[in-house]
Amino acid sequence: MKMGAIIPAWGRILRGGNPFLALEITKECPLSCPGCYAFAPDHLDGTLLKTLSDSKGQDLVDGVLAVVRERKPLHISLVGGEPLVRYRELDILIPKLIEMGVEVQIVTSAVREIPKHWAEWEDLHIVVSVDGLQPEHDLRRSPATYERILKHIEGHRIIVHCTVTRAQSNGNGYLREFSDFWSKRPEVYKIWFSLFTPQEIELSGERLTPAERSGALDTLEALRPDFPKVFLPDVVLDGFRNPPDSPENCIFARTTQCLSSDLSTVVTPCQLGGRPVCSECGCMAAAGMTAIGRFKLGGLVKVGDLFNASHHIGKRWQNNN
Ligand code: SF4
Ligand code: SF4
Repeated sequence: MKMGAIIPAWGRILRGGNPFLALEITKECPLSCPGCYAFAPDHLDGTLLKTLSDSKGQDLVDGVLAVVRERKPLHISLVGGEPLVRYRELDILIPKLIEMGVEVQIVTSAVREIPKHWAEWEDLHIVVSVDGLQPEHDLRRSPATYERILKHIEGHRIIVHCTVTRAQSNGNGYLREFSDFWSKRPEVYKIWFSLFTPQEIELSGERLTPAERSGALDTLEALRPDFPKVFLPDVVLDGFRNPPDSPENCIFARTTQCLSSDLSTVVTPCQLGGRPVCSECGCMAAAGMTAIGRFKLGGLVKVGDLFNASHHIGKRWQNNN
């Protein structure tokens, strides 16, 4: 979110709303990535995403616009499933959302071509998920292979987003090589890293041990001087090192409304759904907001305390209107 949007975002909180909206605009996806949270059995509290309804065509366009008119977010993140399976609808929706003053982010595997003219929309942020270097990525995310991604991002400005899993965290220069490869691509203007966030019952090999998590963060910190495209401010690093202990203490979860593919089912407690282990949270947005919440204004009042007070006032205002 742009710095200039902080005051309007606070205003939205004071009126009991959420400044951020994440929409799972489709339940369809041609991939089956290990560690995918959208299709995990617990994602929607017992309801499988595959069994939920979703819309296409004009119904989807009208449905999303109705949600945005009602909730008035400042920033919207379009996720899935794979949002690009609805590229025709997005072609109509994205310019309308931008016209309404909403900053739009789309998170995609780039499994299909990103329409060339989308490059002209300055307020659209395209985030492409890449799961490590080519051999591992292609194994995990086929058919959205490196070859396809490189072809499909031509002419665009994109952010590469990598979620660090246990295999990638084990030193040996893996994350350095990854940063080197993507830093050299002219289409990439930022590289984001998140850490794998486990669910309470998670037994998968993706989960990092505390030592691996701490080692991965040290590695990422050390990459920054050599790879300026790696976006990892101190404030985010601090948030990763000291995540919130519960959704109630997560400013990101409390300011972001997440709706699933029927555009009404709320994903809780945050975009991940299910029962995520907050103390091992690897979400970059949550890390940034958490660290900002600990900052003391004038050395006296914590931003987080101010947020809690504003949130409380907002909910009371909403209940009374
Ligand atoms: S592309 Fe996204 S939604 Fe599709 S399987 Fe992979 S992680 Fe899940
Ligand atoms: S974003 Fe992270 S800290 Fe916040 S509720 Fe989700 S898992 Fe917990």
